Amino acid sequence: MFQTKAYAAAGKSAKLAPTTIDRRDPGEHDVQLQVLFCGICHSDLHQARDEWHAVFATVYPCVPGHEIVGQVTKVGAKVTKFKPGDRVGVGCLVDSDRTCSECQDGLEQMCLASTFTYNSPDKKLGGVTRGGYSDTMVVDERFVLRVPTNLDPAAVAPLLCAGITTWSPLRTWGAGPGKKVGVVGLGGLGHMGVKFARALGAHTVVFTTSPSKVEDALRLGAHEVVLSKDASAMAKHAGSFDFILDAVSANHDINAYVALLRRDATLTLVGAPPEPLQVGAFGLLFGRKRIAGSPIGGLPETQEMLDFCGQHGITADVETIPIQQVNEAYERLLKADVRYRFSIDMASLRS
Ligand code: NAP
Ligand code: ZN
Repeated sequence: MFQTKAYAAAGKSAKLAPTTIDRRDPGEHDVQLQVLFCGICHSDLHQARDEWHAVFATVYPCVPGHEIVGQVTKVGAKVTKFKPGDRVGVGCLVDSDRTCSECQDGLEQMCLASTFTYNSPDKKLGGVTRGGYSDTMVVDERFVLRVPTNLDPAAVAPLLCAGITTWSPLRTWGAGPGKKVGVVGLGGLGHMGVKFARALGAHTVVFTTSPSKVEDALRLGAHEVVLSKDASAMAKHAGSFDFILDAVSANHDINAYVALLRRDATLTLVGAPPEPLQVGAFGLLFGRKRIAGSPIGGLPETQEMLDFCGQHGITADVETIPIQQVNEAYERLLKADVRYRFSIDMASLRS
């Protein structure tokens, strides 16, 4: 075991602050990496503040961070995929049972015994896992991704959660040529959803509550932008969408979007507001419409997404910050004031 620097929340009302945490010595199948950049996902904020208490109660101290790009510093004797110096990524998962049908299908995110990168029971060290707001991580090679070296690592980090979480449902529900796809909420997830829906060839429409984001939405690839508070603009799209991806972090009216689906079409939630959302039955009955959910993505699909990004030059739009500004970044995230993902330069933790 060794110690590494990190930033942690000591309680649900506490600001994140510097601390030191334990990491295991790398085992035969482990990769040790120095964290170069870590994105700030809204899930980090939900968990640091214990907003998902009913589902995933937070164990303190909590070290968030699951959008990690790093450089390999050591590998265990049986590691075959990586060597020191390689640029790698780690997302929301660091382990799973590897034997269930989900794991065998490469859907580790649905394994009932999966280990999340932070706030999950740590099977090796005890306590809970600690995430990427830290200097060094040790992760089994099966849960380490190859990162395209032609892309800016600060802007690649968010692909490890915001990227895969939007890529996976867009692929599952067939976003592509001839399909009209909506993306609700232009935050970290939403802006990746727009880039992917466009790159996959779908007619892409953004729904935002923020008039100041309209121009950006078009620049990011949207064909159309709708201000969701404008009822008449919403009504023009009634019954016309093949698929809607909802990436909103707070309570909102999803019935307004169900009304925009065509017959048999699906609205998929990737946003995870702490409070239950209300659904009107009639909006679903007529038109046989569906509401679904989608969690992150499995390891093979995450690698596929990263490779696609490497080939198409796709990254997140990031504001790079030092770790010392993480608490201000959380406040800005709550105000939907980020263009469009904070990426922490982890060199700031070492200096
Ligand atoms: P984010 O960057 O804060 O973006 C959320 C966006 O939602 C905001 O930019 C805003 O967009 C919109 N919004 C915020 N409050 C709103 C409100 N009261 N009413 C309507 N719209 C509102 O968050 P994120 O990191 O993209 O994460 C979004 C959600 O996805 C979070 O709940 C997060 O926990 C969840 N998540 C889920 C998964 C999964 O596996 N399914 C993975 C990662 C994250 P506009 O300004 O455009 O309106
Ligand atoms: Zn996330």
